[in-house]
Amino acid sequence: DAARPNAPPARRTVSRSVTVRVPAKVNVQLAVGGPRPDGFHDLANVFLAVGLYDEVTVTPADTLRVTASGPGTDQIPLDATNLAARAAIALAERHGLAPDVHIHIIKDIPVAGGMAGGSADAAAALLACDTLWGTGASQPELLALCAELGSDVPFSLIGGAALGQGRGELLTPVPVGGTFHWVFAVADGGLSTPAVYRECDRLRGAAVIAAPEPAPVLLDALRTGDTTALAAALTNDLQPAALSLRPSLRETLDAGTHAGALAALVSGSGPTCAFLAKDAASAAALTTALLTSGTCRTARAAAAPAQGAVVVPTPAEA
Ligand code: ATP
Repeated sequence: DAARPNAPPARRTVSRSVTVRVPAKVNVQLAVGGPRPDGFHDLANVFLAVGLYDEVTVTPADTLRVTASGPGTDQIPLDATNLAARAAIALAERHGLAPDVHIHIIKDIPVAGGMAGGSADAAAALLACDTLWGTGASQPELLALCAELGSDVPFSLIGGAALGQGRGELLTPVPVGGTFHWVFAVADGGLSTPAVYRECDRLRGAAVIAAPEPAPVLLDALRTGDTTALAAALTNDLQPAALSLRPSLRETLDAGTHAGALAALVSGSGPTCAFLAKDAASAAALTTALLTSGTCRTARAAAAPAQGAVVVPTPAEA
């Protein structure tokens, strides 16, 4: 069953390759606590999956190999440190298998853009290998493996919307009562997530930071599908740090606001900027305005919520 991440084992229908499509995310709330002794930060992190997708295909091979195509792929490692490769290795180790697959990533999620592209590829590779190898992991097992790979990986598997607590990996699905229309302004080059957290700590100095809590008004806005209320409730505690490291993002945010966005914010650790539009037509107009503003490399419209990682049926499987 291609629609469920925890589809039953496919031992007798081993296909030659498996492709999984996986969405990007935007953080509609990112409340960051002070640094913990282990270096992570406690978060109240409301993830929303958006309709920009990577596709990860796994094919049996003599040895583990990673290739990638699409914008920015010159910036991602193609060795065993690639998050998709790490996912394949983790699943293989757990089941006493050799991770001998060719992983091909078609990237559409901006690289190092604050949209969890690497995490998405890890979740996709995990589901693709589970399907290819017939290891039949349950969804809780897949989610546990995802959490070992990175804080944002479990959400990439489930999609929709969810509240992440702890360092972001303790997930509670959040109901969403409508469609939200977003536009993403993609910057040239990325921002390092750890560097943005360090800058956040530096800017805060000795200030006392309250424990991060999810905002009830934001969860209500998602539940009722109220775009205007969601626009008023969006927050990102990493935005000052992203703007401090990349001051030109202010111009991008202003360009979107002047072009009619209901709200503008940095996506996660940036540098992608996210704009909430009133409806699909406004999102299309906003995309055009941003494309011609000269303040970003490209602009893309995407609706939310998007479904999590899913196996894409291929003719080879028939
Ligand atoms: P997040 O929003 O989760 O903080 P991000 O979207 O800002 O992440 P990614 O696209 O995940 O950033 O890339 C972060 C770094 O991870 C990249 O600079 C790259 O070196 C490394 N990386 C490893 N594997 C991948 C992958 N499959 N895709 C993208 N980046 C990868």
